[in-house]
Amino acid sequence: MTFECEFCKKTFANKSTLSTHKKNAKKCLKLQSEVITKNIKFTDELKQLQEDLIKYESIRLRQIEEIKELKQTISKLQEENISLSEKLEENLYTNVNNIKITQVINASPDMTDERIIAISNKCTEELIKSLEKLKSEQ
Ligand SMILES: [Zn+2]
Repeated sequence: MTFECEFCKKTFANKSTLSTHKKNAKKCLKLQSEVITKNIKFTDELKQLQEDLIKYESIRLRQIEEIKELKQTISKLQEENISLSEKLEENLYTNVNNIKITQVINASPDMTDERIIAISNKCTEELIKSLEKLKSEQ
């Protein structure tokens, strides 16, 4: 059975020569100090990495909160937008209809009320149709 030095990979016939080697062989001692230095460096890097991780985690959590708030703002704005669109559509509908009816009445001042209502209804129908067409084209 042979015993291998974990630093320089040299093999020895027994444990005590391996132990003497590790304590005295200059080349091996140099390798050992390099390994220790590497371990210290690695430990420092690991600590830094953990600190960075904690920092990034807090940034990430803050960003999640910001995204939540932005989503809420967006849905609020969407609701407002829908409500404003509906109001706008209503106003447009009323305005266009009034203009059309006024034009018809002005063109024929002797028109009966029934005829005005019939024309008004026809205008409303046409307006609804054109609004639906506009919506389907969006
Ligand atoms: Zn060695």
